[in-house]
Amino acid sequence: MRIVDLIEKKRDGEQLTTEEINYFIKGFTSGEIADYQASALAMAIYFRGMTPRETADLTMAMAHSGDTMDVWMWNIAPLIVDKHSTGGVGDKTTLVVEPLVASLGLPVGKMSGRGLGFSGGTLDKMESFTGYRVQLTTDEFKKQLQEIGLVLAGQTADLAPADGKLYALRDVTGTVPSLPLIASSIMSKKLAVGAHAIVLDVKVGNGAFMPTLKLAIELGQTMVRIGKSVNRKVVALISDMNQPLGYAVGNALEAREAIETLRGGGPQDFREHCLHVASYMLVLGKQFKNLKAARKACEKALADGSALAKFRQLVVAQGGDGSQVDDPDKLPKAKFIETVSSPKSGYIKTISAKEIGIASVHLGAGRAKKTDSIDLAVGFIVHHNVGDKVNRGDPLFTVHANDEAKLAEAKVSALAAHTFSKTKVKRLPLFYKTLT
Ligand code: URA
Repeated sequence: MRIVDLIEKKRDGEQLTTEEINYFIKGFTSGEIADYQASALAMAIYFRGMTPRETADLTMAMAHSGDTMDVWMWNIAPLIVDKHSTGGVGDKTTLVVEPLVASLGLPVGKMSGRGLGFSGGTLDKMESFTGYRVQLTTDEFKKQLQEIGLVLAGQTADLAPADGKLYALRDVTGTVPSLPLIASSIMSKKLAVGAHAIVLDVKVGNGAFMPTLKLAIELGQTMVRIGKSVNRKVVALISDMNQPLGYAVGNALEAREAIETLRGGGPQDFREHCLHVASYMLVLGKQFKNLKAARKACEKALADGSALAKFRQLVVAQGGDGSQVDDPDKLPKAKFIETVSSPKSGYIKTISAKEIGIASVHLGAGRAKKTDSIDLAVGFIVHHNVGDKVNRGDPLFTVHANDEAKLAEAKVSALAAHTFSKTKVKRLPLFYKTLT
């Protein structure tokens, strides 16, 4: 077999066989297939797509390109349930949902990622806690999962390495927003970790990889189908990403908002989103019979402090400073904090998640290149949701910056992300659809 023939085949719109996909992933993982050839194939896939069979084959080839954790994970808990978000702005759901479900007896060992483009990353948010280690060895991961039932770490190098390599190439070759490539990337990691059941939070909107409901549903269905083909239960929740989730955007600011939510407060939309995702995880993990019972238990765990206590335990177990959980004022703080007022009276028509996400990257909260360092303290607090009524002069958003020029630029960009209407505006739904 020759990789150039496979590239030409896909370029011309033909299907790749299972053997050809296995050949590509094996050769790419070992380094025999060059990055430029893998990039060309990714671009051909971007334009030509893949059939469900090809997408499932690519998923399985990537899931088995390195170690899998299923054997020992399954010894720790009879049912391993995982969650994954396709990425968004202000999406700190994992920081709340994982300790919440772990506090209710469902162990969670999650491998998360860093921010990508304008969408934030769980690992970056967790690094707001001084000393928090995201790189654990497999033994450390296992020990912590056994001891406290909760791990939130980075992907180990030997877990689905083909996805790690391909993802890095896609990020710099304009091939991230390809439906079969996203579906296989996410599902390969979840299967390599050994999840029996997976709750997928598929974002749709201007701040998501999938801009339309039709595409988001197709992505969700593709992943549900892949799961089914290997006897895994997958639920895909299609959720809104046209406005930021919650009010905080930026790493330490989001960590703080997650703590507020774990204390029983937090923004209403974000709290509701977390309760919904956590309830699905608990039902799939057979901890509760139905969503209503799971939700009631989640509300109690937020109110009585047990979810927060589990989060603190996690931070400390991975070397972080637990006192920052007790007192979020100790989290990294920006030098300049400025609130911008509404220039108009009326109803908020849009708060573009994409524009706010890009503006927060420019402030330093995200990376332009994988190797860039980030500023944990900077970002935004938006003070409203779409549909809110505001009066001229009311606080609209607050910028947290460490550089005066960037502060000025951020004020202009975030203001442009807000549009207004004289007439009433419908609120955006949190979820559009559930696919099972
Ligand atoms: N998240 C992933 O893990 N992979 C993608 O391709 C997109 C989002």
